[in-house]
Amino acid sequence: MSSSDRQPQTSAPGERPVAGAPAAARQNLLDLDREGLERFFVETLGEKRFRAHQVMKWIHHRHVTSFDDMTDLGKALRAKLEAHAEVRVPQVQFEKPSADGTHKWLLAMDGSNAIETVFIPDKGRGTLCVSSQVGCALNCQFCSTATQGFNRNLSVAEIIGQVWVAARHLGNVPHRERKLTNVVMMGMGEPLMNFDNVVAAMSVMRDDLGYGLANKRVTLSTAGMVPMIDRLGEESDVSLAVSLHAADDELRSSLVPLNRKYPVVELMAACERYARRRRGTSITFEYTLMKGVNDQPVHARQLARLMRAFGNAMQAKDAAKVNLIPFNPFPGTRFERSPETDIRAFQKLLLDAGVLTMVRRTRGDDIDAACGQLKGQVADRTRRQAEFRKRLAEQGGVDAAA
Ligand code: SF4
Repeated sequence: MSSSDRQPQTSAPGERPVAGAPAAARQNLLDLDREGLERFFVETLGEKRFRAHQVMKWIHHRHVTSFDDMTDLGKALRAKLEAHAEVRVPQVQFEKPSADGTHKWLLAMDGSNAIETVFIPDKGRGTLCVSSQVGCALNCQFCSTATQGFNRNLSVAEIIGQVWVAARHLGNVPHRERKLTNVVMMGMGEPLMNFDNVVAAMSVMRDDLGYGLANKRVTLSTAGMVPMIDRLGEESDVSLAVSLHAADDELRSSLVPLNRKYPVVELMAACERYARRRRGTSITFEYTLMKGVNDQPVHARQLARLMRAFGNAMQAKDAAKVNLIPFNPFPGTRFERSPETDIRAFQKLLLDAGVLTMVRRTRGDDIDAACGQLKGQVADRTRRQAEFRKRLAEQGGVDAAA
């Protein structure tokens, strides 16, 4: 689906209605990538293509949403835009800075749903963790988002709007004072289940008229949607991360139910096909370490074998990179974080086997913004939230109706 075929977005609650066409009939320009915006200017407004470029810069470089403030556009064009278009950004419902510099936003998506976005500053880089869906349908057992159930996919505007909100907050200036250097599609949701909108939003992230990020600085993380990994390879050129968490099918299926559909051997074959298209770059395999579940030497050896086989197939020792993530607990979970000694021993075993392995430092856990802890506000359509709350109440955790 091309971006210009997408339906205009409806109004966010509490936003000032604009004069002219009803809000629902206006095209939200945040919903369009460069190609879609050019088409809108040429076909709908009867304007020159370069006008689309000017507006794109106003929106994404200068964070301007009012056409009146786009001062290099003529009065007539501004009036035309006012009548046919709008720039509708997500509303910040709540934001919270962490002691370690991490910053979390709760963004209202509509009357009943909200998602979380997290910025993580580090030495010389600033990474934004972006959500792709309201909740998630995949039900990975160790994930806080999964307990919330699922409501819907986010639109392009709602995905790129997260980058817009963070960039404005940070005073980010693409190509000059860039504080936002990386985006990871690792927030709420499985991005490959919202393929068209995620690919369009990632194209704005990488566009010079958008956020100007290099391909390798935009990473999509998947739980292993095999056919869509192939499609991503055909249509995009971003970095790929895979949530692996176990190298063996039985254990992985118990942690990531999607593995029953796409087992490890099929997943690794899809990773190989993806990596062949992007020679010279590595694929990151994420592995959340849970005490007594997947953190033992036997698991590390299985993982090392799998990673070495991948490296051999790619004829590159560094084709795979492993990110070890100490589990971040959340209320009601049955998992625990692995002890530090086990984490180090796991890493050493992999390093000794020649596998590039890093341990991800936990960031933002004082504001529940650490990896696997994101939890927005989901009008659950899967009944999973109710089941989880019931289980929690039975364990004496929280009120079942909370
Ligand atoms: S880990 Fe990712 S894919 Fe799995 S349930 Fe959580 S958000 Fe969904």
